[in-house]
Amino acid sequence: MVLKFIVDLNVGKLARWLRLMGYDTLFLPLLDDGEMVKLALSQQRVLLTRDTQIMSWHMVSSGRVKAILIEGDDPRKQLLQVVQRLNLNYQYNAFSRCLECNSLLEPQDPQEVEGQVPPYVFKTQKKYTRCPDCHRIYWRGTHWQAMNRVLQGWQAPNSS
Ligand SMILES: [Zn+2]
Repeated sequence: MVLKFIVDLNVGKLARWLRLMGYDTLFLPLLDDGEMVKLALSQQRVLLTRDTQIMSWHMVSSGRVKAILIEGDDPRKQLLQVVQRLNLNYQYNAFSRCLECNSLLEPQDPQEVEGQVPPYVFKTQKKYTRCPDCHRIYWRGTHWQAMNRVLQGWQAPNSS
């Protein structure tokens, strides 16, 4: 079964990293706690939160909603906790989702992005993807490489 997530406001930074790895991750700051837990149940999403009170709710403590109580403030350590606990694969489907809205990215021909990316990018990059919802264009530039290094670094033992 492929894991899906819903991320509480208090650990919002986890959403981008999980999306970066390719995991379907909802982050809906406008939901109240009750709505969030209900959504986790109905969509079978793992709830990530720092809220000990939510962890004590019957729906959660009984295991109907799977939830992980996140420890500490450091987003890197928080993600490492989730990765180790659920044995996530860093390479699962990396760079397949929009970091902003969780949508699956669609491949774009280079000529389709001409004029929409900086000229130096257009000259050097041949592979692009676009978010069908926010229309953000992604390419494997330096930002991509930096994030990839972070993910790979986490894979090595004792790298926390
Ligand atoms: Zn998007």
